[in-house]
Amino acid sequence: DVATTTVKPTRILAVTNQKGGVGKTTTAVNLSACLAALDQRVLMIDLDPQGNATTGCGVFKREALPTVYQILIGRSTLAQSRIRTDFGFDILPANRELAGAEVELIEMERREYRLRDALASAAGEYDFVLMDCPPALNLLTVNGLAAAQAVMIPMQCEYYALEGLTDLVATLKRVRANLNPRLEIEGLLRTMYDPRSTLTQQVSSELESHFGEKVYRSIIPRNVRLAEAPSYGKPVYAFDRNSRGAQAYLALAQEMLERSAAANATTQGTPS
Ligand code: ADP
Ligand code: MG
Repeated sequence: DVATTTVKPTRILAVTNQKGGVGKTTTAVNLSACLAALDQRVLMIDLDPQGNATTGCGVFKREALPTVYQILIGRSTLAQSRIRTDFGFDILPANRELAGAEVELIEMERREYRLRDALASAAGEYDFVLMDCPPALNLLTVNGLAAAQAVMIPMQCEYYALEGLTDLVATLKRVRANLNPRLEIEGLLRTMYDPRSTLTQQVSSELESHFGEKVYRSIIPRNVRLAEAPSYGKPVYAFDRNSRGAQAYLALAQEMLERSAAANATTQGTPS
């Protein structure tokens, strides 16, 4: 509907948590697919040299592939390196080569802002940019955090989760002070959720009392289809649309759109 279409600003999100195995990659891939299924224009950026998000989208990590590595070292542009997946969204792929970028970047100008600078050229082409960060606070993650408007934090509701969050909140504080003052927490996402565990319930309610509205209402259950889909090179929404995992990520995508619509309505209603 042309009459009601407004230009929506790009929302740039880093999917991050210094802990490994909490569902960052699963979230980046499946949320991208679900946002695309809801007609959003999405770019996913794989910032992990393991390239799991890349293969999870059916893009092979061929060495010759132009990747986010070439972009970071200034040898390629976003337009040259992005690839259209079969699932309605674009990806900037990664492979092991990206591990080398860390060392090369140290010597470079604006080394923390290489990704942000590269993304500036694509502003407006996407509704969402989702970055899958590696499980470490290295220069790749720092590039992601400097380019992002906000972070999405997937977490498992287990004993050490809250401790890990304290570290992450401290990291975000440092990033705000040194690199990116506007960086917000977009939301905390409970992943691999097992409602039968008492500990999970306890951690989950502590999370809600500390972070309130920042905790997504949508919860991602432990679901074997989510773990199986990457070996077929597909997001779960394309692999088994009716699975609980697919439905959970779809609900999350809808929740994000509702939140951003509500936020835009508030902004537009405020006299400037
Ligand atoms: P990270 O990127 O944070 O290291 P991954 O997304 O790779 O975490 O997830 C770690 C492992 O757990 C992977 O094998 C993935 O397939 C599996 N996994 C992730 N989320 C779920 C879930 N909700 N249910 C079942 N398995 C999951
Ligand atoms: Mg990962």
